[in-house]
Amino acid sequence: MQFPTKLFINGNSSGTSDRKPIPVINPATEEALCEVASASERDVDTAVTGAQKTFENIWRDYAPGKRADVLFAIAKALREHAEELSQLESLSIGKPISDARDEIAMGARTFEYYAGAISKFYGQTIPVSRGGFDFTLRQPMGVVVAIVPWNFPFPIATWKVAPALAAGNCVILKPASQSPLTALRLGELAAQAGLPDGALQVLSGSGQQMGDALVKHPLVRKISFTGSTSVGSHIMQLAGRDIKRVSLELGGKSPNIVFADADLEKAATSSPMSVFANTGQDCCARSRMFVERTVYEKFVEIFVQSTRKIIVDDPAKPETQIGPMVSGQQREVVEGFLQTAKTPRHKILCGGDRPSRKGYYLNPAVLLGCETTDRVWQEEVFGPVVCIRPFDNEETMLSEVNASPYGLSASIWTNDLKRALRVSKRVESGVVSVNCHNSVHVEAPFGGFKQSGLGRDLGMAALEGYTELKNIYIAE
Ligand code: NAP
Ligand code: MG
Repeated sequence: MQFPTKLFINGNSSGTSDRKPIPVINPATEEALCEVASASERDVDTAVTGAQKTFENIWRDYAPGKRADVLFAIAKALREHAEELSQLESLSIGKPISDARDEIAMGARTFEYYAGAISKFYGQTIPVSRGGFDFTLRQPMGVVVAIVPWNFPFPIATWKVAPALAAGNCVILKPASQSPLTALRLGELAAQAGLPDGALQVLSGSGQQMGDALVKHPLVRKISFTGSTSVGSHIMQLAGRDIKRVSLELGGKSPNIVFADADLEKAATSSPMSVFANTGQDCCARSRMFVERTVYEKFVEIFVQSTRKIIVDDPAKPETQIGPMVSGQQREVVEGFLQTAKTPRHKILCGGDRPSRKGYYLNPAVLLGCETTDRVWQEEVFGPVVCIRPFDNEETMLSEVNASPYGLSASIWTNDLKRALRVSKRVESGVVSVNCHNSVHVEAPFGGFKQSGLGRDLGMAALEGYTELKNIYIAE
């Protein structure tokens, strides 16, 4: 298999750098797949300057229909290369191949959605009181920087790149160090599909080393970031100096609330994968479970039975549901959380141990006996650990749900429509799923309340976030 290893700058996939290249490790074998170039401050400047030129001279003035054609062509190229992209994603982060295939397809669909959205996103004419003619335009911003994490590398990159390009911006994409491969291929495939040189550039490399240069570059107008709350806060502070636009998709500690009147079997059998999918490395993981006390024991019993059936295995096998964690370091972080729960009050019903095989595997852990003051209950673990607590009263439960600084997603299980609506409104969270766990739809806004973020990916809301709103008034 061939790996893209060079920076993709100004339509050219030959960019090397003075910096030491970064190895990409296969977490299932703990062996290096390849080494990928790490961009320097100079590469950042070359890329951003080139992007600005393409913006001014070509892309912002492309007729909307022509822009749509290019985005549809990119989607087509992604579908044609779907298997290659899925393999790259699975090999570099240990994602089960069937999940990788779904995510690559979602990335292509995201390009199709925004290609179609270009002709359906428009301004208003406004009857201002002094007469004349007043109307609004949605204009592109210029150069947008997209910084993405390693847990869903490809889809999250497309959630930012596709709407930003659709709106007429040029984009610098910075993938996470662990997962640069599909981002680099996206740059190459988009150029082959007809995207003008410089409109999308991909800078692999260390965020700590080049992040500030990207955010501070005077030609960069917006930073769209998905990752940890601490890095998001740093970026926002840096961007604040020049009033740059930011959108941030950050961490989560999402609740999963089960009322006694719910379809218990469905709730209990579907909930394990709502937290353990992607080996728990999911900002939407439903890691805090609130179960009404009258059904608590029954629920826990079915939940644990279902958890034991989950196939933890080689990500290359199509039946595998959970692969290894992304790195040995990430696994140690998770094991550290589990250590804090080894007290007489806590009970680990299953998992939390390493299977006896090579690779950064960790069996999914079900934890009872947590108090709301426990670190493992309050903080994002970002691994396969769930805490389940009983509740007696809706009001008290809701105040515990909302006591978190996060507010990304939530699930509510009930067959009482009034309760579903009442609780959906009260949960402080950007996304609520009733009687299911689906948080993400290409067509609907996705993002968080409170420290889970700012701004929205996906849907038409994302397009708003990549444009400036201009009002034009023509006197009579
Ligand atoms: P991270 O450390 O914040 O990294 C995210 C991205 O930021 C990576 O590309 C990283 O590059 C880069 N970065 C690191 N330091 C930077 C800096 N100083 N300036 C600019 N960029 C910098 O997060 P992660 O560990 O990769 O991902 C896990 C976190 O992401 C979790 O907290 C999770 O909840 C969150 N997440 C949120 C969502 C959401 O939609 N809300 C989705 C997925 C993940 P390097 O890899 O080179 O360090
Ligand atoms: Mg990181």
